[in-house]
Amino acid sequence: MVQMCVKTTTITESDMLQQQETCLLKNDQKQQKTTSYDGEQLQSAQLPVIKQEIIWTNVVFITLLHVLSVYCFCNYFFTTKWQTYLWAFIVGGIGGFGVTGGAHRYFTHRTFKANLPLQIILILCYTVSGQNDIPDWVRDHRVHHKFSETDADPHNANKGFFFSHVGWLMQRKHPDVYKKGKTIDMSDINDDPLVQFHTKHFLLFKMLFCFIIPVVIAVYGWNENWAEAISAVAIIRYVLNLNFTWSVNSVAHIWGSKPYDKRIQPAQNVMVSVVAMGEGWHNYHHVFPCDYRAAEIGGYLLNTTTLWLDLFASIGWAYDLKTPPKQLVHKVAVNHGDGSWREIPETDHTRDYKTS
Ligand SMILES: [Zn+2]
Ligand SMILES: [Zn+2]
Repeated sequence: MVQMCVKTTTITESDMLQQQETCLLKNDQKQQKTTSYDGEQLQSAQLPVIKQEIIWTNVVFITLLHVLSVYCFCNYFFTTKWQTYLWAFIVGGIGGFGVTGGAHRYFTHRTFKANLPLQIILILCYTVSGQNDIPDWVRDHRVHHKFSETDADPHNANKGFFFSHVGWLMQRKHPDVYKKGKTIDMSDINDDPLVQFHTKHFLLFKMLFCFIIPVVIAVYGWNENWAEAISAVAIIRYVLNLNFTWSVNSVAHIWGSKPYDKRIQPAQNVMVSVVAMGEGWHNYHHVFPCDYRAAEIGGYLLNTTTLWLDLFASIGWAYDLKTPPKQLVHKVAVNHGDGSWREIPETDHTRDYKTS
């Protein structure tokens, strides 16, 4: 286990208590679903259902992409060079880190500060993942946290696995997402010149860093065939990258334990942590979204994003990394958890993050 000396900033208890209030507010909102305006009990099924228009171009594109990835897997699996598989794995890791360390922990939650070189690295890594532009991603995720499992949550897990995984990308957003989305402060993102530049040239960046450069490196680096390179590095890797990110919104909102707050749906899911580089400790993350580790347990093996952030912190590129006070985490877990929380034994390590 790698141990690094990382200077962290402890979030104040009042910040955390505010987050707790947000959680309670969400629960109140959920309960309102069963109460009529007259105070009479009304089942949620009786509330007016707003039909969200299907975006057929997205349905066709996402379906074709998945069919194509299966075709590529079946057709080129045995003819692809091992170097190409290794490269696809590395490219997948770069894109994954861009989403988890960049779009999520840096741009959305501002859990740490980054110098300019690291900001550029984060934004380029994020581009490799081939997802939506940064303002889109950040707005969706901030709304998701503030209004989890309500109609204002873009990927409301109450609408089932398929909707929260990918279905939400195939239809127009619920009007509440737009309405409540306007209450989200996006000024930091809108005023960021790096994000502005990236968003302005988004399509060019995406084509180059997600598809063209990774494929060209495989073709000219070790003489891979174009078909095999496109299949492994551009298509299959891309589809896996997308599904691993989506699994946080679906799997980690449906299956797992709730050691920190049993009143909310996000759960601790080890499998999601493996594929999403440490983002599966989702019950913890929704209770303490300001923690740069997005987890209390798991160690670097199950949170490779934190490993990379700590490496950048050790050379001073990432700094002011936020963590909540241990006592507060303990208090919240004891008061609101499902009883599965266990205290991590004290050791002489220089940082809080230890293998569970
Ligand atoms: Zn979530
Ligand atoms: Zn988050």
